[in-house]
Amino acid sequence: MTTRQHNTIDPAKLDKLAEVAVKVGLQLQPGQDVFLTAPAAALPLVRRIAEHAYKAGAGLVTPLLSDEEVTLARYRFGQDAGFDRAAGWLYEGLAKAFDANTARLAVVGDNPMLLAGEDAAKVARASKANSIAYRPAMEKITGFDINWNIVAYPGASWARLVFPDDEEDAAVGKLADAIFAASRADVADPVAAWTAHNAALRARTDWLNGQRFHALHYSGPGTDLTIGLADGHEWVGGASVARNGIVCNPNIPTEEVFTTPHAQRVEGHVRSTKPLSYQGTLIDDIAVRFEGGRIVEASASRGAEVLNKVLDTDEGARRLGEVALVPHSSPISASGLLFYNTLFDENASCHIALGQCYSKCFVDGDKLTPEQVAAQGGNSSFIHIDWMIGSDKIDIDGIHADGRRVPVFRKGEWAA
Ligand code: ZN
Ligand code: ZN
Repeated sequence: MTTRQHNTIDPAKLDKLAEVAVKVGLQLQPGQDVFLTAPAAALPLVRRIAEHAYKAGAGLVTPLLSDEEVTLARYRFGQDAGFDRAAGWLYEGLAKAFDANTARLAVVGDNPMLLAGEDAAKVARASKANSIAYRPAMEKITGFDINWNIVAYPGASWARLVFPDDEEDAAVGKLADAIFAASRADVADPVAAWTAHNAALRARTDWLNGQRFHALHYSGPGTDLTIGLADGHEWVGGASVARNGIVCNPNIPTEEVFTTPHAQRVEGHVRSTKPLSYQGTLIDDIAVRFEGGRIVEASASRGAEVLNKVLDTDEGARRLGEVALVPHSSPISASGLLFYNTLFDENASCHIALGQCYSKCFVDGDKLTPEQVAAQGGNSSFIHIDWMIGSDKIDIDGIHADGRRVPVFRKGEWAA
């Protein structure tokens, strides 16, 4: 592992990526503070983000850097009892910051397989402790109280995982270019490109919201699945309005339109079409069967132990919190790359998520209490894990309450 600078990252495109994060991702408003997390290796991007944020009128930009070697030191040398610890004080402060309208920016770029060789039980304990401590702040993100954004930086160890046959500098350059392309930071006017992309996604969500399907039915290899949609569900995608009134693009990149499934109304079986990289473990060939919305059987050819631990996190971990549609021809899918990072891989494929739902995926979701969300079929959990079920062989029908069927996807593409 190194923390040296890589001159294979185009500085002009890196600057445009920072501009996209601030102007498209956050739509940062004058006077707003920013809380930013990033790997230490992503400092070149963090510095450019700070510059664009202050030029856009940021009040205060507060970065918090992490480091792969520091994370590994915990697993190698940390005392056993420490794996149930989490920085609750930090998340309490973060929740207060969100209450004061601080925007949240996360730069991802660490090696997704960093913890692959570590003790799975310790990884799960640390993850659970962190999820519980994070909850007060996380609810304000999933509830979309404030504008937030995730953007990626081509960390060296991540790049070597995606491009194992290349030398480090070449791998970093290739991952950088893939990130810039997927994030629309490689065009003359990225902000205009995002405006057009958001409009295209909006046309899809408008159509789906007009249909008001009762359920979606998926068929394909190893898949015969009916996903009931939550009562009063709303499809969203691309730019959306946070509760603080700011229109932002939380995920850069994003190709999905998504909504809330009904936690009690999922029946049948489904197979994953891409490996899921979950906190350092690759989980492959996931096959699950649902009854009454609950996963009653689960297997995986690889990472099954971690998958089963995840499913046992809490009651909601066995139920769905998100259903998302992405055409097989999406630019990220067309790149043919496996990024080992959900931010990218979920945008290459139709996917579903185990765990927590998004209250913004309901009509007037910002006015619903957690109890109302649950009554309408919204799931609740400490986890939210997306995994990929799309391919060029998947057909999806929308099913109306009276049983009438409408083609939505054919062979992995929008039917109309
Ligand atoms: Zn998604
Ligand atoms: Zn998701």
